[in-house]
Amino acid sequence: MKIFCVGRNYIDHAKELGNDIPEEPVIFMKPKNALLPTYSPFYYPEFSNELHYEVELVLRVCKNGRYIPKKQAHNYYNAITVGIDFTARDIQNELKKKGLPWEKAKAWDNSAVMGSWIEMSNKQAKDNYIFSLKNNAQIVQQGNSADMIFSFDDIVAHISNYFSLNIGDIIFTGTPAGVGECVVGDVLEGFLADKKMFEIEIK
Ligand code: ZN
Repeated sequence: MKIFCVGRNYIDHAKELGNDIPEEPVIFMKPKNALLPTYSPFYYPEFSNELHYEVELVLRVCKNGRYIPKKQAHNYYNAITVGIDFTARDIQNELKKKGLPWEKAKAWDNSAVMGSWIEMSNKQAKDNYIFSLKNNAQIVQQGNSADMIFSFDDIVAHISNYFSLNIGDIIFTGTPAGVGECVVGDVLEGFLADKKMFEIEIK
């Protein structure tokens, strides 16, 4: 199982971190150990002093493929949820300054949190998912997949030009504006429309 992530997929978020709007999807990966097992506690990472949440729509791959044409891409995912791409922003800023890879900022153990899956029916519009994140009961991030620079199908097609997609792979599709810091004791809740998909406390 592989975890793909898309960076800078919402214009407002790219701007809030001072990044250019990308001309093609920015792709990075997290290893399998990055996935926080269900019901496991989430611990603040020891190596960071600036932990950020990034709430994202997450897709589940349901078919093996490579070089997938955009028109066929919708056949390759069939479930969606909301998750957090946890980021050690202080580490990431240092790495970015030096032009170094991001893994130490984004791919550490338990840095990927996910809710339960919801099946996507083929007839359902796949480009109008509303999602949000609450921190201590206050809404801190809100997004709509319609605002993505690269759609689900764009992302799937693009990834498959470089990597095989396999059944069970997971794709974090990018975070909207409003990323921010969280501290020990914060309670984060992710929503797909009005449905609560996960709740975690930072320990
Ligand atoms: Zn992200």
